[in-house]
Amino acid sequence: MTGPLDEEKRTVTGEAKALLFGFPPSRVEVRIRPRAPGWRAARAAQMLGIFLVITPIAALVPPHAPWGIGALITGLLLARKRWSERFTLEWIAGLCPKCGEEFEVKPGRLKEPHPLSCDTCHHQSSLKIAPELLGETQL
Ligand SMILES: [Zn+2]
Repeated sequence: MTGPLDEEKRTVTGEAKALLFGFPPSRVEVRIRPRAPGWRAARAAQMLGIFLVITPIAALVPPHAPWGIGALITGLLLARKRWSERFTLEWIAGLCPKCGEEFEVKPGRLKEPHPLSCDTCHHQSSLKIAPELLGETQL
């Protein structure tokens, strides 16, 4: 039996590919963490809460309406971003398809496709994770 806390501790490690047009794909190892709807909702609500506090303060500055509306829209967009974090990319090990140097990627929300920037050759590969790896972890 797994509870919501166990769910948050679970990570999935597997193989993926780094794709760069004109070069053969390279194999990379990834560790991803699926995020439960409760976790995502809490993070989205936290972001909304912060911007609901900021909005009236920002609206005090003339011309009032644009700042207030801007703060509110920013809060909504950031909350939506938090909500859309279905997987967190925690760790990646692999080589750039062009120059063969190791990728350095900060942990964060897994995007589809996820960009992999190479610090050495400055080309941007995209991370292709097998659907089975994501599918096995579907919540
Ligand atoms: Zn490179």
